[in-house]
Amino acid sequence: MVSTGTGSSGKSSIEGKVAVVTGAASGIGKAIAQELARGGTIVAIADLNQAGADAVAAEITAAGGHAVGLAMDVTDEDAVNAGINGVAAQFGGIDILVSNAGIQIVNPVEQFAYADWKKMLAIHLDGAFLTTKAALPYMYAEGADGKPRGGTVIYMGSVHSHLASPLKSAYVTAKHGLLGLSRTLAKEGGKRGVRTHVVCPGFVRTPLVDKQIPEQARELGISEEEVVSRVMLGGTVDGIFTTVEDVAQTVRFLTEFPSAALTGQSFVISHGWHMQ
Ligand code: NAD
Repeated sequence: MVSTGTGSSGKSSIEGKVAVVTGAASGIGKAIAQELARGGTIVAIADLNQAGADAVAAEITAAGGHAVGLAMDVTDEDAVNAGINGVAAQFGGIDILVSNAGIQIVNPVEQFAYADWKKMLAIHLDGAFLTTKAALPYMYAEGADGKPRGGTVIYMGSVHSHLASPLKSAYVTAKHGLLGLSRTLAKEGGKRGVRTHVVCPGFVRTPLVDKQIPEQARELGISEEEVVSRVMLGGTVDGIFTTVEDVAQTVRFLTEFPSAALTGQSFVISHGWHMQ
């Protein structure tokens, strides 16, 4: 992918920027944090799993990047505010928010526990809202030139932001909801330099997906191999999983993109499973 954010100097436009990536102790979030750090961004690895966040930050630092681990439950307003304010105080502001933390719970609607429904919506939707609300004042803040600092907010959606699958009522509802939040923010933030997108991967082999394979096999009464070949990859053009790097490169491209010519969009990264 050609980087639009790299000028003739070869320097990325995200170099020296400050990013918060939630759920970055594992999987897709970790790869995004690593990719942004390769672009020279200072990255806060925000996760429920503090030890995991610290380990990712240490890996990035060992590779020559700049990162810090940050304990954060994205459903806890006080923890979110304290975390984001702390990063801004330490590094002088916030330029990039990647709201990525997420879990999966599968069950048919009539068996879906209300507590599980609320937990899913809290992590995916409340977490996106709370982190956005905390980060925006730093992006809207005006510099000495009277211009807002600006920034980019990326939400981790899914092909399930556009499609439904059985057993995933809460996930599909939450991932569709992110489109509404992002499109509203695109309109509110446009004149204040804030751009936003929903990135929508197909299936990516992470702990979140590995956990679902036996669960779906049990619920659907098919083998684990069939869950992979039919349920997860059956709609792709080539039967191949999307990778964490595919998603991370897309996020980097969007953060480097220089204007609101691209804002309020969703980008499906799925080997052709759902084309919009
Ligand atoms: P993962 O399980 O590897 O990582 C998720 C991370 O989120 C973990 O480190 C976990 O500790 C953290 N987390 C969970 N609850 C949290 C909370 N309340 N506060 C802070 N952190 C919390 O999962 P992944 O596959 O990398 O998923 C990341 C995102 O990508 C999720 O939003 C998921 O819905 C989305 N997604 C994943 C796939 C896929 O196939 N893996 C596809 C589309 C979208």
